Amino acid sequence: MSAQVVRVCALYPELMNIYADRGNLLMLEQRCRWRGIDFRLSPSTLEAPLRDEHDIYYIGGGQDSDQRLCAADLVARKAPALRAAAARGAIVLGVCGGYQLLGHSYEIGEEHVEGVGLLDVRTVREDGPRLIGNIAITLEEGVLVGFENHAGRTRLGPDQPPLGRVLSGHGNDGHSGFEGARRDNVLGTYIHGPLLPKNAWLCDWLIARALAVEPETLAVLDDALEDAAHASALHAAGR
Ligand code: GLN
Repeated sequence: MSAQVVRVCALYPELMNIYADRGNLLMLEQRCRWRGIDFRLSPSTLEAPLRDEHDIYYIGGGQDSDQRLCAADLVARKAPALRAAAARGAIVLGVCGGYQLLGHSYEIGEEHVEGVGLLDVRTVREDGPRLIGNIAITLEEGVLVGFENHAGRTRLGPDQPPLGRVLSGHGNDGHSGFEGARRDNVLGTYIHGPLLPKNAWLCDWLIARALAVEPETLAVLDDALEDAAHASALHAAGR
């Protein structure tokens, strides 16, 4: 059997990385390593080219100021490769600010920040508090838990499915009951925490998709700590 390898590209890892979003990369790496799967991580930051040669593209959350810089670079330099990767079935995962940039746009007052449009979503700033707190959502495949903190409100286009439904917390806009968005292997979510360490099943789901195998075929790991982290976050979210 040929050796398995997962190639991950972290977009703007030093700028789009708040609330421990880097933990998502560590989790992917560790769960691959434990299974003897070769894990290759390449960063692509401002002004760097982006190649359509990775299995997973990942972009975390960020402050508006950093997000502006990254959005301009993403659209100007990286959008064609990212769109080509998504079209061939590569995984694209965006968290919070990263999720917003996978949509069409983020309106901050009069300012229009363009995204790459891989998800049919638009984000606006509205009067009202930031949407902050513990969150739990349900998907067909399982429950995701974590922490959200965003000022932007994200609206789904008419045919854009959410990633999941809010069990507790705010989600995309605080009232629709939707959280995140998904189109094929392109996923966006507001869940920090970080996302993958608290939701090991999603990490394995991503690894399996990257390898084009079913998650059940991955070697079973001792998830006592991961399960405890999930249970604790679920409890914090009041479930
Ligand atoms: N700057 C964005 C917002 O406030 C995203 C924040 C984040 O990534 N946590 O909506």
